[in-house]
Amino acid sequence: VLITQGRYVASAVKKEQYPETERPEIVFIGRSNVGKSSLINSLTRVRNLARVSAQPGKTQTINFYEVGLKWREEERRKIFYLVDLPGYGYARTGKEQRKIWAKFIEEYLLTSPRLLFVCQLIDIRHEPMASDCDMFQWLVEHHIPVLVVATKADKIGKNARQKNIAQIRRRFGVPDLSVLPYSSLKNEGRSDLLDVIGDSLIE
Ligand code: GDP
Repeated sequence: VLITQGRYVASAVKKEQYPETERPEIVFIGRSNVGKSSLINSLTRVRNLARVSAQPGKTQTINFYEVGLKWREEERRKIFYLVDLPGYGYARTGKEQRKIWAKFIEEYLLTSPRLLFVCQLIDIRHEPMASDCDMFQWLVEHHIPVLVVATKADKIGKNARQKNIAQIRRRFGVPDLSVLPYSSLKNEGRSDLLDVIGDSLIE
């Protein structure tokens, strides 16, 4: 599967600002600084499509990107919306702000009519934090399909990788959970993730 286009469409903090579209949506979510912007840029190969930030917790809007896919050696093409949600679990904003955030993420996730699945990003180097586990449980409880993507895979060796993926499965309580390692630096995992996205778009 190849990406044919990626462009920014809109940002929203409430429902009225969501773009009007019939396109299916694939959502990216994770703690601040997990590498979400880097992954979106790596996946789409559009430089600076998502803003990579040295300052965690800055993006506080839901960002919509229109992304085109084409199947190799086929006529088939699809367009989907890639939806970038604000990072969760960022302490510096304080309790009140965090609550507003969560509500605003929840409202989107519970009302989006064409949400195909959520990519939940976890930093492969660290044990999932309570906020990661809470988010995962919440998605499962609300019957939203989740793909766990383990980011920054280039930062650790192969053995540690397997060990940490097993730890994610354990912490999330799903022994056979599929966890896709990804490195935005090396574009590793990119074609696997594109295949998953492509498959989800074929009804
Ligand atoms: P976001 O806050 O989740 O959008 O995270 P960013 O994409 O802004 O990345 C946070 C930091 O992690 C930046 O310094 C990135 O350069 C770094 N980073 C992100 N992805 C990778 C990766 O795959 N490998 C490495 N080595 N660093 C990464």
